[in-house]
Amino acid sequence: MATILNDCFAEHHKLLPAEEALARLRAGVSPVVGCEEVSLANAKGRILAQNLVSPNNVPPFNNAAVDGYAFNSQDLSANIETTLAISAYIAAGGETPAPLQSGSAARIFTGAPLPAGADTVIMQEDVTADEQSVSIPQHTKTGINWRPAGEDMSAGETVLLAGHRLRPQDIGCAAAMGYAKLSVFKRLKVAVFSSGNEIYEPGQTPPEGGIFDVNRYMLMTQVRQTGAEVSDLGILPDTLDATVAALDLAAKNHDLILSSGGVSTGDKDHIAHAINQLGQINFWRLAIKPGRPLAFGHIANTALIGFPGNPVATGVCFMRFGFPLLCALSGQIWPEPIKLTLPAAFSLSKKPGRTEWLRANLQVDTNGRSQVDKHPRQGSGILTSLVGADGLIELCESSTRIEIGDAVSFLPFSQFNVA
Ligand code: AMP
Ligand code: MG
Repeated sequence: MATILNDCFAEHHKLLPAEEALARLRAGVSPVVGCEEVSLANAKGRILAQNLVSPNNVPPFNNAAVDGYAFNSQDLSANIETTLAISAYIAAGGETPAPLQSGSAARIFTGAPLPAGADTVIMQEDVTADEQSVSIPQHTKTGINWRPAGEDMSAGETVLLAGHRLRPQDIGCAAAMGYAKLSVFKRLKVAVFSSGNEIYEPGQTPPEGGIFDVNRYMLMTQVRQTGAEVSDLGILPDTLDATVAALDLAAKNHDLILSSGGVSTGDKDHIAHAINQLGQINFWRLAIKPGRPLAFGHIANTALIGFPGNPVATGVCFMRFGFPLLCALSGQIWPEPIKLTLPAAFSLSKKPGRTEWLRANLQVDTNGRSQVDKHPRQGSGILTSLVGADGLIELCESSTRIEIGDAVSFLPFSQFNVA
């Protein structure tokens, strides 16, 4: 085994910086799934495979923004109240009204087409009126209370780009443009398994030395949150043959394989060797904490990430590496996390030369300012630190010391769909 490590994996002896690993993931990724049409009702969370160009102006016609009276400001008398005869009655849903008769007003309701010749709508609350006439106070502001055609989206405008994940507001926007169906990327097929002779299914009674499988359930949920289809491939024993056979089979009908455990350099760690036997490893050992062993490679066209076994490391590494890769393979534009810069409510010494992610909480200090505190227990076996946190603090490779009040980068969990 040592020979294989030295020969085939020599490059991986140096720990790869997190930024370099992310850059490699990003450079090599493109959508691997085809397209399908979905109705608007089924489009939430799907990724657009077409640019959405507005075929029409939205709104399609000039229309009243309030219930009131439409008139032309040229017809107002200076410095005195003006009374105009009401010459038309225009409700929402009617045909294009006739042009406004000069010197008159139209009764109009919200969403109704503004008649040509009118340039102002006054709210009904701001006038005195009866069925025949309306009195408009002096100093009334003109040119307001109506919405021009195309003020939101103009005909021919590209409103949403291919690669955008559809949120409720985007689906509303597609509806406003008149789309009934959308072309979206098919769901990515993702295989998930755990590995380790000590790992048992929750619900079973594990024997001495056994523990319950955390990672598979956490990873499958994280994957589903991105909209991908999950195949639950269970728990692999710690043998090279079983690992090779399982990866080989999974690669045949999945776009991505995620495994956890067995990715280090111990005698019982077979994931990296199995990938190397069946395909290629792109990187394996990273300058990160939690984590370090994290294998990325390919078996034919199927991408594969082998996460470290410790559940915190698996959870965090999924967020930082797995999540963007999965999104991009699914057709989404690579989601670069937004890093909030906030003062630290803690001090800490850190080893240089690796990127670290602390589980952390947002807080408000006594002056009402936002700050971020690290969870008190940071061990990579402390799964409750993930449960008790709102996000991750990212400490860059070069940093060695954080003092209270220093600016640190905070990545809310909401960015990884795990808030
Ligand atoms: P490994 O990298 O396989 O040596 O695993 C590192 C640590 O993570 C060990 O303590 C394993 O028992 C633990 N571990 C590995 N896989 C899982 C899992 N699926 N659920 C919970 N703990 C795990
Ligand atoms: Mg193991």
